[in-house]
Amino acid sequence: QAREAPRETIDYQAALRSLLEEGTRMVCTGRTHTDRVCRFQGLCYSVEAEEFLFLHSNASVMLPSLGPRRFQPALLDLSSVEDHNTQYFNFVELPASALRALPPPLFVPEVALITNRFNPDNLMHIFHDDLLPIFYTMRQFPGLDREARLVFMEGWGPGLHFDLYRLLSPKVPLVREQLKSLGSLLCFPQAYVGLSKVTTWYQYGFVQPQGPKANILVSGNEIRQFTRFFAERLNVSGSEGRGPAGEEYIVLFSRTLNRLILNEAELLLALAQEFQMKTVTVSLEDYAFADVVRLVSNASMLVSMHGAQLITSLFLPRGAVVVELFPYAVNPDHYTPYKTLAGLPHMDLQYVAWQNTKQENTVTYPDRPWDQGGIVHLDRTEQERILQSREVPRHLCCRNPEWLFRIYQDTKVDIPSLLQAIRGAVKAGLGLGKHKWASSLYPSKVRGARCQASVQGATEARLSVSWQTPWNLKFVKVKEVKYEVWIQEQGENAYMPYILTHQNHTFAENIKPFTTYLVWIRCIFSKNLLGPFADVLVCST
Ligand code: UDP
Repeated sequence: QAREAPRETIDYQAALRSLLEEGTRMVCTGRTHTDRVCRFQGLCYSVEAEEFLFLHSNASVMLPSLGPRRFQPALLDLSSVEDHNTQYFNFVELPASALRALPPPLFVPEVALITNRFNPDNLMHIFHDDLLPIFYTMRQFPGLDREARLVFMEGWGPGLHFDLYRLLSPKVPLVREQLKSLGSLLCFPQAYVGLSKVTTWYQYGFVQPQGPKANILVSGNEIRQFTRFFAERLNVSGSEGRGPAGEEYIVLFSRTLNRLILNEAELLLALAQEFQMKTVTVSLEDYAFADVVRLVSNASMLVSMHGAQLITSLFLPRGAVVVELFPYAVNPDHYTPYKTLAGLPHMDLQYVAWQNTKQENTVTYPDRPWDQGGIVHLDRTEQERILQSREVPRHLCCRNPEWLFRIYQDTKVDIPSLLQAIRGAVKAGLGLGKHKWASSLYPSKVRGARCQASVQGATEARLSVSWQTPWNLKFVKVKEVKYEVWIQEQGENAYMPYILTHQNHTFAENIKPFTTYLVWIRCIFSKNLLGPFADVLVCST
């Protein structure tokens, strides 16, 4: 891959003069360190001090000006993992004149995105924590778009999957170790520091047991924009829903080192027979990543043990089925990064979890090192307790020995119970191209709402309410349009809700004379796409 663009050049004397005269200029987005990304002009890095430098001059800018709050606990998170104390960014302040006492700077000519990879050894972490957030951070700031020099400061070497990071920009990323070889003082005329967290959907259990993030802000549409870009860069031609020969097939993703499926051949055959489809096995060890993506991106079903390789379900076509297998004593509901992914709005994947519930079908490895699930280093009673336990209790990341022991078991998959689980969940049937994707556009406000009140004697009254369709209805194909009307007596908290199909209605039930009512109206598309309420109507009987 020789996609490195010709090196940009820089007027060294002008850059140096600008740094001395103007110092560092920083303007950030975000209100707290966990949602902050900062744009810098004239940011330097001292290799000797292993610190970033903020140079003060008459022209320097530091926004936000946090004072000592910059250390409580940091200016920002360098990785996309929320508030992790090994991932904080800060800088050291110096007068710009100190430059004269420092080694001559080397300028990095391109716009840089300075960030941390969280765990570049693990494919799930690579996509969820790094690639997706980098991709969308680059699209948030025009200066970064597609041409940025990524600079990874977490301190790891390039890593096994460095090629995946290289796909994000034509400029080869730099890792911290390499900075030393460039010079002892590096300065970035233009840099962004930090990473957007808007695309992440999972928290790994550092402060509470792992689970979906509380406020998920990404949908399948953005995921697919990313995977489309990524597949293109991998030279995997896009085609929705069919294999090269036009036939549908199932992918069994196998692990070859640990957490094995012991009866893979039998499982392969059973799947092929049950669904009358070709079934193929892939693994990260035996296939190039591009080939994995090519296969997965046209598969009707992906079957795999719980594990990082399941992040490749990002590349599945809409309508495909993800089947995640869990070893004995591992509760699928407690480990849901892939379930959450499959269930993102508009991701349009069907998800099935299966757990081995038969102890005789599991193979344990108590003698392995602790990080591969061994437990012989624990005291006897603790070992005994773990061996007796039928479910790993909820726990925090990352070194719970009972969790590691159970998750690194091998499993003989009980075929009838697995097939039953899949049949039960895949009601719409297997097979791509049969699906119609619901529109996801929300109605705008109803227009021209009015009400008329009339009194029918001493105890009865009526409210006639009418309105016009939302403005965007005429542009949108919608299966079903309904209206929700709330009638609330002024000063009361309670209200009466109504669902209506027409654009006018006369309410007589529970309407009292000589009373003021507030009427709230909104439109609903396709049962669950709730629009905004129109301005409240005030009607007095
Ligand atoms: N891995 C693999 N084959 C194996 C075991 C692991 O390809 O037999 C990969 C796995 O997909 C991940 C990395 O090695 O990218 C680390 O695996 P680990 O078991 O530590 O993490 P997990 O898969 O549980 O997230």
